[in-house]
Parts: sequence; C-alpha cells; structure tokens
Amino acid sequence: MRALITGITGQDGGYLAERLVTEGVEVHGMVHDADPVAADFAGRHPRVCLHVGDLADHAGLARLVRDIEPDELYNLAGISSVAYSWEHPILTAELIGVAAAVLFESARAVQEDTGRRIACVQASSAEIFGDATMSPQDETTPVRPVSPYGAAKAYAHDMARVNRGAGLHVSSCILFNHESPRRPETFVTRKITSAAARISREGGTLVLGNLEARRDWGWAPDYVDAMIRAARHPEPDDFVVATGTTHTVAQLAEIAFRRAGIGDWRDHVTTDADLIRTADAAQQVGNAAKARLELGWAPTVTFTEIVHRMVDHDLARLAGEI
Ligand code: GDP
Repeated sequence: MRALITGITGQDGGYLAERLVTEGVEVHGMVHDADPVAADFAGRHPRVCLHVGDLADHAGLARLVRDIEPDELYNLAGISSVAYSWEHPILTAELIGVAAAVLFESARAVQEDTGRRIACVQASSAEIFGDATMSPQDETTPVRPVSPYGAAKAYAHDMARVNRGAGLHVSSCILFNHESPRRPETFVTRKITSAAARISREGGTLVLGNLEARRDWGWAPDYVDAMIRAARHPEPDDFVVATGTTHTVAQLAEIAFRRAGIGDWRDHVTTDADLIRTADAAQQVGNAAKARLELGWAPTVTFTEIVHRMVDHDLARLAGEI
C-alpha cells in the first residue's frame, strides 16, 4: 500500500505520516523547497519519502501523482490560517482551491489509465460554512464562507464532489478546529498554552482578541484517524468531523493558566481591539453523527485534556525536558 500526502510537514500531515508508517504503508509526501521545517521533518521521519514540489505547478502535481500512483491520496496542503488568507487571498485560492482541483483531476486520469483506484481525502474545513444559518453544522448545512480561506476550501470541497460524481473515490472531511502541541502560535490554543507556560515561569501578560469567540476544538490525531477511515470506507462522501461541544477563548485561557499553576488568568490577560477580526464566524459547532455512524469514528480526548496536554508540553519545553 502506498500513500501520498500533500502538506506532510503540517500538524495533521505529521500525525498522518506517523500513523501510516506504523501500519506499514509506504508514505510519500510533497514538500516545498522553501519549507523551513522540511529538513527537520526528513530527519525525524527517515521512512517517509519526500518529493520537492510546488502546489502552484500544476504539471508537476500531475506528474507526482502519476509517478507515485498511490492507493491513497490525502490533500492537506495549503495555508492554514484564516488571518493569513486575508493578507493573501489570491495565493490562498491558488494553493487551497486550484491545487485540490488539479490533484483530483490527476488522480482520476491515473485511475482511468491504470484501472487502479486512488482513494482521495480532501481536508475540508468548518470555515466553508462561514456564518452558518444552522447550528450545529452538518453535511447539509449551506456552504457560505466569510473568509478567503473558507472560499478557497469551499471550491476544493465542491470539486471533490464534482470528481466523485465523475467516478473518483474522494471524500471531503469537513474538519472543525483540531489542536495539539504541534499547533503553531498563530492559533489561539497554542498561543494561550505557550503563554501560560511562559508566564508561570517569568510572569508577564498575554494579549488576545475576542475572548467570547466560541469554537468546537478537538484533538488533531483523532481527526487524522477520521481521514484514514474515510479513505478506506467503501462509499466516498462528505463527513463532518467535530466534537459537538464548544468552549470560549476565555474558558480555554482559564483551563490553561490553572494547569500552569496560575491562580487567576485575568490578572495576566489583556485584550486588543486590533486582534478582533472583522469577519469571524462567532460560533462553529459540528454534528459528526454521520462520521460516527458510517465511519465508526468518535473523538477520544476531552477539551480539558487537550489543553492540559498542550500546557504540559509547553512547560516541559521551557524546562528543557523535550
Ligand atoms: P480559526 O478558527 O481557524 O481561525 O483558529 P484560531 O485559533 O486562529 O482562532 C479561533 C478563535 O479565537 C477565533 O474566533 C479568533 O477570533 C479567536 N481569537 C481570540 N483571540 C485570538 C488571538 O489572539 N489569536 C488568534 N489566532 N485567535 C484569537
């Protein structure tokens, strides 16, 4: 069995590669030659075969799929920050939207030529729902993005469905926020857990945006597990992957600071209006009933435990233990 992962050096790509290598799958990953963490990733994952490529090079993407002829193709690549997508909306469309379409098209062409099935998984996002008209959101919720990131993910999601209709085994996993100690600090979870660890040692303050924003936060390796299940499910489809519960940024901070041994988190947190987003989905919460029923998937780590694991990691890092 062979798998190709785009976005392999990201949070989910790393967990996915590790899972597949453990299963004995031959894992290939595409990396950009300017990726600052590619060399480090290669050193830590000697059994993964890395290929230098560029999401904007359509012919190169097609060649990669043809050369590797994977049994499973996971499209995780692209920019991962909603905030960044506002600064670079066109690049976001190219790297998230068009590249996905090229990959599906290439997989379908290889499949037609060889007669071998390529099971594809698109890492879609709750951001496709934008300011959703229904809550919780499920696979029937109208796609109405409110950010360039959401719009690009929406196009990729639609192209997954289009290619499914044309005979490609492609599932779109609509992933709600999923976190781990590998999250960069551009995400509010890691920003808070690393600050709580730092402040517990050195004091200081943390500046945040909207403390009342709510998200449905899950454990990243669980979401990787859902994508593997989707690839191997007989029927490709759209699957919402979420915990079904939400917490506020304030609750996140409270749990993180308490874990780091700080009494009142409010003594160390200030807010800055510049960090409050102009268009932000106020509440995202997913209903993963279909993934539970059809994929046998369920989240395994509670919100409190996720925050504890992230703070513990950041404390251990500051103590020089890892
Ligand atoms: P996103 O849901 O993919 O955009 O993930 P983020 O972790 O970046 O943001 C989650 C929520 O936290 C959003 O509603 C943000 O507006 C809110 N938030 C509040 N303060 C901050 C902050 O300082 N940084 C970030 N990144 N988000 C913040």
